[in-house]
Amino acid sequence: MSKLHEARMRLRGELEAPAALRRFGSGWISGVLGLVFGLAGLGLVLALRMPGQLSVPETHNLYANPWFRVGLHLLLLTAFGLSALSLALRPGKTLGTCGVSVTLLAAMLGGSQATAAVGTVTPFYFGLDFFVLRILFTGFLFIPLERIFAHRAEQHIFREEWREDLFYFLVSSLLVQILTFLTFIPAKAILAIAPLTATRAWVGALPFVVQFVAIMFLTDLVQYWIHRAFHRIPWLWEFHAVHHSARSMDWMAGARMHFLEIVVLRGTTVIPMFVLGFSPAAINGYIFVVYLYSTFIHANLSWRFPVLENLLVTPRFHHWHHGIEKEAIDVNFAIHFPLLDWLFGTYHLPRNQWPAGYGIEGHPVPLGYLKQFKYPFRRDRTPAAVPVDSATPHS
Ligand SMILES: [Zn+2]
Ligand SMILES: [Zn+2]
Repeated sequence: MSKLHEARMRLRGELEAPAALRRFGSGWISGVLGLVFGLAGLGLVLALRMPGQLSVPETHNLYANPWFRVGLHLLLLTAFGLSALSLALRPGKTLGTCGVSVTLLAAMLGGSQATAAVGTVTPFYFGLDFFVLRILFTGFLFIPLERIFAHRAEQHIFREEWREDLFYFLVSSLLVQILTFLTFIPAKAILAIAPLTATRAWVGALPFVVQFVAIMFLTDLVQYWIHRAFHRIPWLWEFHAVHHSARSMDWMAGARMHFLEIVVLRGTTVIPMFVLGFSPAAINGYIFVVYLYSTFIHANLSWRFPVLENLLVTPRFHHWHHGIEKEAIDVNFAIHFPLLDWLFGTYHLPRNQWPAGYGIEGHPVPLGYLKQFKYPFRRDRTPAAVPVDSATPHS
């Protein structure tokens, strides 16, 4: 075993430490936070050093704001302080040492005063800063909620397969430019053939709330049928099986989706909102909300909404979509309005019940991003991949 591999396994062992070694005062919380803040700081410093290559254009205004530098400085100071605290409290020094090391590396690269080291104009970029900001924002919103209101209280933050799901987050963030480009190809092609000038002017002038709800409904309607096709058409199911291979549901689980499915799903769901001429404010507002909403419905949250769950999709509704039991096969395709499942005969929400487990019976999908990417293209179709329910491909 190489030294690097040994260190990696030690770090993973610390992150996934059993409950007794994670209790308050053990130096685990400070160690993990110190490391996460240190890595986040390092990521942002790298983006400042190479803005043309490692940052998205949307953040460039943020970097010009002096408060961003203050925030980054505080982030790095906090990372250092928490890592030092962990070193003092924790018998094992792995977390603290890693936290201090990445923070020092970020400081050596310029810290909060880092400036561009390479020319800023490049046609292609990776969204490293997008990944960091996305993880910080989503993690700090959902992790405390999942700790306090957990549906499965025993589920650890660093639960099984957390690294795989985090990697999905990383890839979809780094490749945000190409994903956005691919997403708009079908909608732009339609607009080129049918400009729909009058319709677009009328739709764009509607009140914001009306536009927002209309986008939600139209997007969900398209999403429902595309999603249903991904379940019912065997070769499409091979792609969608990757999303359903998650055995744990939490704020990271929804990120697991085959790259080509993301392209198809986004490319089709943006058609109504882009082609019909909704205002940029309504579109951007919806994109932000749908991101939070799709994270929310996968989250490990016990919240129940006795009346609201009839109108809007809740975690319990979507958890049933991921349920491992037979009754959960091919149900609850909607991501906003359960009405769609009710109308099209796929509604399933047993009173007060949650599924017993998540995933696909027999767990045919292998672990690891690359193996999952190749899964739909594999030559040897193992028996485990054949659906249990012969009528439908989702097992
Ligand atoms: Zn599905
Ligand atoms: Zn899902």
